[in-house]
Amino acid sequence: MTFKAEYIWIDGTEPTAKLRSKTRVLADGAELPIWGFDGSSTNQADGHSSDRVLKPVFTCPDPIRGGDNVLVLCEVLDIDMTPHRSNTRALLTEVAEKYADQESWFGIEQEYTFFKEGRPLGFPIGGFPAPQGGYYCGVGADEVFGREVVEKHLDLCLEAGLKISGINAEVMPGQWEFQVGPAGPVEVSDHMWVARWLLYRVAEDFGIAATLDPKPAKGDWNGAGAHTNFSTKAMRENYDAIIVACEALGEGDKPLEHVKQYGHGIEDRLTGHHETAPWNKFSYGVSDRGASVRIPWQVEVDKKGYIEDRRPNANVDPYVVTRLLVDTCCSALEKAGLV
Ligand code: ADP
Ligand code: MN
Ligand code: MN
Ligand code: MN
Repeated sequence: MTFKAEYIWIDGTEPTAKLRSKTRVLADGAELPIWGFDGSSTNQADGHSSDRVLKPVFTCPDPIRGGDNVLVLCEVLDIDMTPHRSNTRALLTEVAEKYADQESWFGIEQEYTFFKEGRPLGFPIGGFPAPQGGYYCGVGADEVFGREVVEKHLDLCLEAGLKISGINAEVMPGQWEFQVGPAGPVEVSDHMWVARWLLYRVAEDFGIAATLDPKPAKGDWNGAGAHTNFSTKAMRENYDAIIVACEALGEGDKPLEHVKQYGHGIEDRLTGHHETAPWNKFSYGVSDRGASVRIPWQVEVDKKGYIEDRRPNANVDPYVVTRLLVDTCCSALEKAGLV
């Protein structure tokens, strides 16, 4: 007997990478082999030397096919078995290991927008729906669009064993959110990429495209972000560590270094309107949804907990945002003697 392994990888498309996958049929009990693909079709190689390598790094049950079938998330390597330049996971694992003793946790809020027939789901042909106001966490056929896909996606993520922690309808019609976490940097990112793949895959069955476009509708409509909630062991125990992390994110070139790598098109989303802070002006504050980084109200009361970086775009690479946060905050906490 056989089973099917769906090999999933992140391609080299710029400015925003896409997910790719293909199926390998394997004999029952077989180990998941290293595999290859044509990198010239994925912006990962030139035609004359186009073989690239898929190295399995995270496996879970395939809830679409069921049975013994599996999803296999891979890193992309060059044929000399070193990480391909598009392989941001390899960069993260190094930094994550360096600061492993600080026990970083992440919860990422993935916002996204459904499109059908070239417009956001719920937008009428050639026009606009009623202005924003009733859609966020709404109920009823006049307020929410695509719930059947969202419910199915949640069930699939749970069946796959992903650490999905919730869903909600967002501020713009056809816009939704799911959250993954809390989990360590590599785990939350692997789960996020597989959850994204499952989202595209299940929406496909409904004739709907899910997109991570950070500004899917021009005008007075909210963009789509990926708020990244972050804590270390020290931050979960004391408030000084919370403040050190916030200050570190605001120091010197750090705001720009982070924002530049928080997803293509970030200037169009971080305008200072629609619950965002301007991309070129760093701020942090308690309960402040107009700040770059928010300290949740409860965290100030408890004097411990986590912070929310509200800047990342929906199209951010989770391997990149978690690496930057660990690197910036954990090194500052170390320097401050708070670990
Ligand atoms: P919001 O109120 O901003 O909409 P959500 O409830 O959508 O927040 O998401 C919060 C995320 O933060 C969840 O994924 C949750 O698991 C995660 N989270 C909770 N506690 C921590 C923590 N201590 N460290 C990191 N992430 C956390
Ligand atoms: Mn949320
Ligand atoms: Mn949201
Ligand atoms: Mn949030």
